[in-house]
Amino acid sequence: MSQIHTLEALQKTLRLTPSEMAWHEDSSTVPLAITDHFLSLIDPDDPCDPLRAQVVPTAMENSSRSWENIDPLAEVAHSINPRLVHRYANRVAFLVTDVCPMYCRHCFRRRFTGSLQGPASEDEINQSADYVGEHPEIREILLTGGDMLTLSNNAVEHLIGAFRSRRPDLMIRLCTRYLASDPSRIDCDLINVLRKFNTAPIFIMTQFNHPRELCPESLRAIALFADAGFPLFNQSVLLHGVNDDPEVLAKLCENLLAARVKPYYLFQGDLVSGTSHFRVPLERGIDIFRKLSQLVSGLALPVYAIDLPNGMGKVNIGTSDPVLDEDHSRWTLKTPDGHVVSYPAE
Ligand SMILES: *Cc1c(COP(=O)(O)O)cnc(C)c1O
Ligand code: SF4
Repeated sequence: MSQIHTLEALQKTLRLTPSEMAWHEDSSTVPLAITDHFLSLIDPDDPCDPLRAQVVPTAMENSSRSWENIDPLAEVAHSINPRLVHRYANRVAFLVTDVCPMYCRHCFRRRFTGSLQGPASEDEINQSADYVGEHPEIREILLTGGDMLTLSNNAVEHLIGAFRSRRPDLMIRLCTRYLASDPSRIDCDLINVLRKFNTAPIFIMTQFNHPRELCPESLRAIALFADAGFPLFNQSVLLHGVNDDPEVLAKLCENLLAARVKPYYLFQGDLVSGTSHFRVPLERGIDIFRKLSQLVSGLALPVYAIDLPNGMGKVNIGTSDPVLDEDHSRWTLKTPDGHVVSYPAE
């Protein structure tokens, strides 16, 4: 696999716009990396291409809004160690690595992604696996990052083995964007490694945001998992200029379902520094989702959810009774455990 890392190199393939050329890396941005595979799917003649918008940075990332911050989900406050986030009683997230083969400009884990820490150390893996071993109430682990498939197959086997040796019953969600960013990573060798861990399910959690990402190579990678018995779920982010259109989302969700990937979440963009240009105001999001639900079957319909600021957790927007304040500047929502939370309307 090869990637593009600089604006100069990108300029040879795409004619960059002034805003794209004015981008610079700072504390509110993630690094620049685009895989050759994803670049090949971009229409170079369309400066508004929805795939381009996801991976080519613009100067808008260099400005933040007052209500945004670098860790809006307060993951650090809910961490057992730098890699293990325990926010819900029965499931944990393990940050395998901060590295991705391609960085999404809307990435919500900016406090961590691309921060050059690399994969979790042997100590961090063992300490986290011990913790999960000592807490039988934990039923699921999300292996996430970064993108854990930047690890070699040997390292993937070692990592999963560390957790499963303590907890053969532990269900695993393997979170990866490789099926969109570089589907050639998914091959029989990887499948054979994962098949060894057959004492409990491994779910493959993908991120496709636009129907054009579902190219023949991605469909082949999906089929490898599905044929081997690994259920697949997709988590999309609602993104202005990418998929903020009921027809586009309907095509994405229907094509995912036809490929045996269940659309699981459609996330409202988190309040992360430098991402306001991607955020769809909640009022429009609710309208788009209502139209989407009229277009697709129940199986193809994801849950429209917000991961609330300050680590309040995910809420289903459909069941959280959002109410717009009188001055139309904030929404008030209820979490499943009864907390009342305020969310900006812009
Ligand atoms: C999203 C998330 C989960 C999983 O939540 P589900 O609603 O079960 O998909 C678990 N832990 C953390 C820290 C999360 O951010
Ligand atoms: S693949 Fe995930 S972790 Fe990596 S940049 Fe994209 S959203 Fe962030």
